[in-house]
Amino acid sequence: MGSSLRPDLARLEAVLDAPPLTRFAPSPTGFLHLGHVVNAIYVWGIARALGGRVLLRVEDHDRIRSRPEYEAALLRDLEWLGFEPDAGRAPLLRQSDTPSVYEDAIAQLRATTEVYVCECSRKDIGGERYDSRCRQRSLSPGPGRGLRVRLAGGTEKFEDALLGPLMQVPAEQCGDLLVRDRDGHWTYQLAVTVDDMRQSVTLVIRGSDLVSSTGRQIQLARMLGRRNAPIFLHHPLIHDERGEKLSKSAGDTGVRDLRSAGLSAPEVIGLAAYQVGLIGARESIGASEVAGLFRAGSPQP
Ligand code: GLU
Repeated sequence: MGSSLRPDLARLEAVLDAPPLTRFAPSPTGFLHLGHVVNAIYVWGIARALGGRVLLRVEDHDRIRSRPEYEAALLRDLEWLGFEPDAGRAPLLRQSDTPSVYEDAIAQLRATTEVYVCECSRKDIGGERYDSRCRQRSLSPGPGRGLRVRLAGGTEKFEDALLGPLMQVPAEQCGDLLVRDRDGHWTYQLAVTVDDMRQSVTLVIRGSDLVSSTGRQIQLARMLGRRNAPIFLHHPLIHDERGEKLSKSAGDTGVRDLRSAGLSAPEVIGLAAYQVGLIGARESIGASEVAGLFRAGSPQP
């Protein structure tokens, strides 16, 4: 479906069968940086090019790393850049506001599969794949204990709008899925799957670092009764000079730092578009112009 930078919009439109509903879903665990701006360019650019809508979701499932001051700063910086969600800011979905929906999802999963207490730490597990060693132990919930969902097994095939056809076997990749961590917080995998479903998101646009999560989210959504999985698009990431993913390094890629260094919002958006390769030279791009980066005839680097 298109190049590795731009999706084939006609094809995407055909598989979506209605204008998409997508989302911008930052975690308030740090300040907005150029990596987020790249994601916003893709989210708003593709939504606008297809006549779709964008929701704003604050993914604060991790109650230790999330902070209200980061949330306030993220929203302020996003507004400064000019990326406006379609439903406005008021009905913003904040995961920590609605703990019962995740409880309900667990109750629903219990009806069809095993949901069990697990006390293994990352160190105990040693790699990405969990070997189900707590499945038979009937541990009771408590501090330092998490919750896992038994996955059915089986292959998930999907067509990424940028990466093409992909195939994943979640039970082999990660084993039974952690849905509540040992600190008692809902995990990203559970929260994002429940929210994409309850908000009827039809197009998930995010960085390629999350591609390996997709099969397990499709499988979990099906276990929760979702009939049609959303379409997924995983876009390239930008890296700092040391080759590190930006969210791991932050520093002078922070939107507020670039702003205090005197850059305008269109200059920051242009810088992000340039760094990810959507344009061949630094130029200014307003938030309302990002659809042009994806429409046919848009400048190629
Ligand atoms: N909250 C995630 C992040 O900030 C995004 C999750 C997603 O788009 O699925 O990386």
